[in-house]
Parts: sequence; structure tokens; C-alpha cells
Amino acid sequence: MNNIKTDCPVCRGKNTLEMTSKTEKIPYFGEIMESTLLCAECGYKHSDTICLEQKESVRYSLEINKDNINTRVVKSQTATLSIPELGLKVEPGPKSQGYVSNVEGVLNRFESAIATAIGWAEEEEIKANALKILEKIDHLKNGDEKATLVVEDPFGHSIIVNDAAKHRKLSENEIKELNTGFLTIDK
Ligand SMILES: [Zn+2]
Repeated sequence: MNNIKTDCPVCRGKNTLEMTSKTEKIPYFGEIMESTLLCAECGYKHSDTICLEQKESVRYSLEINKDNINTRVVKSQTATLSIPELGLKVEPGPKSQGYVSNVEGVLNRFESAIATAIGWAEEEEIKANALKILEKIDHLKNGDEKATLVVEDPFGHSIIVNDAAKHRKLSENEIKELNTGFLTIDK
């Protein structure tokens, strides 16, 4: 664990920004570094997960059930996460962050993104569809519904740590189709 204090770029506080970083070895994957910036003055926070090794592109998929909801998921900044059965996809964008979580944590992130989308949505149809997806996510957590979590990373810095997860290299076309953007919900 490393700690460095520096000036905050947001509030310009002197030595108020603490940078913490730690490296961790993940089985079958390699070494990653998690770093967090936190300003004691204004509360500015940013965290990131960086893979310290060169990797090939990768596509992981896992059928979610209530017994594997604790499966570890490492999502790098460059990864696209999707649940095709629910028409959900989060693509990497300029503000996207890498993180280490588990399947449940990923579902929770989808839920809060959808809740935000409902707040902004003007069309009733979109709202209704988003509410339906929230219900399905709930069912997934209870094991009453099945769906697949897919992680696609052209730089191979992401992983679903479960022997039951399928993985393979991405094709050239798949890599071309991965782009940057934000949460999208299919109609
Ligand atoms: Zn600050």
C-alpha cells in the first residue's frame, strides 16, 4: 500500500489530496493496481484499476444464477459490460472507471444507472421499459430469471473469475464494433 499527498486539482487545497494505491494478484489473471484519489477538503474522489501486464483481447461470459452472484469481476477502463437478455450495455467512455467488484455489484451499478435514466426519461415507453428491466434484475438476484453477463475488453484487462465463465479472444470485427459511449437500453 502506497500513500502520497498532493494538492487538489478541484479545490486547490494544499496537500489535501491523498492518493492510495495497492497492487493485488488475481488468480489466473495477473497483477492489478487499484488507485484511489480522495480530497479531505472537498471530497473529490476518483478510483481506477489498472492491469500491470500486457494481454490479448478477451470476451468473458457467465450465466448469472443466484449461486454465482459473488463471482469476482474485474472491469478495466476499456471494457464493455453487457447483459444481452435485458438489452443492457455499458460502453467505456471518457469518464469510465475500472473497478473490482462481483456480479451482484455489477447488477447494482446497472440498477442505479437505470434509476438515473428513469429520472431523465421523458417518454413513458422508455420509463416503463426501464422499470421492467429493474424488475428483471431483481429476479436475477433471486434466481428467478436467467441472463448472461458479458465482459468484452480489447486490451484483455478484464476478467470474470469463475471456472464456469466462458472466455475467448475477440474477433477483429467484434473489436471494431466496440465503441465508446454510455449506458444504452434497447427498446
Ligand atoms: Zn479538493
